[in-house]
Amino acid sequence: MRLLLLAPPGAGKGTQGERLAARLAVRHIAAGDLLRAEVRAGTPRGDQIAEYQARGDLVPDQIVFDVLTPAVVEAAAHGGYILDGFPRTLPQATRAAEIGVQLDVTLDATVYLYAPEAVLTQRLLARASQEGRADDTAGVIRHRLEVFAETTEPLVAYYRKRGILVAVDADQPPESVTAQIQVRLSELTPPRNGLRRSRLCARIRRWAWMIPRSPS
Ligand code: AMP
Repeated sequence: MRLLLLAPPGAGKGTQGERLAARLAVRHIAAGDLLRAEVRAGTPRGDQIAEYQARGDLVPDQIVFDVLTPAVVEAAAHGGYILDGFPRTLPQATRAAEIGVQLDVTLDATVYLYAPEAVLTQRLLARASQEGRADDTAGVIRHRLEVFAETTEPLVAYYRKRGILVAVDADQPPESVTAQIQVRLSELTPPRNGLRRSRLCARIRRWAWMIPRSPS
């Protein structure tokens, strides 16, 4: 299973990514976490990443692909992945799709999690007091939400056009969101292209069966 979670900051893609990855026994690849790990490693690349993250700006594509591509390829070779926060721009999506075709690691589905901006802001401010992330201050949160609206939201139409998008209301308890993701994935009609379509149908039927309907 190869799934992308597409969501504004605070919508819970990290939480849903962990839950789905655990249940489906595939790797959860959180772009922000991998980039923060580079920062902690204190490399020159990490220092560059830290500046972008602290401002709430997107890290340049080349760095993102250098950090993310090996993780995605490795996960795909071991049963699949839940991608959280990558791709995040149209250029990233088109380049990732090209690499995906070359390496046979393309996405099966994209889950778009949405919630009102006031809910997102409130959740991020609550997380700030618990985790102390440098980019969870009121000003940077506002900027990250703007960056999402301008740069990442166009991916909703991009994946919808490709017939692999499901949208789920994230303004509910985490277990309800997971259950809703399961339902929406089981309803997804994969794109019409022969073998890929039938493989995808079989895979979606398996996910629907594998994700328990009641919260664990
Ligand atoms: P997140 O943990 O998903 O909220 O991401 C935190 C920060 O990491 C973002 O504000 C960006 O600075 C950076 N980041 C994460 N994913 C990407 C990406 N796909 N492209 C560029 N920057 C990213």
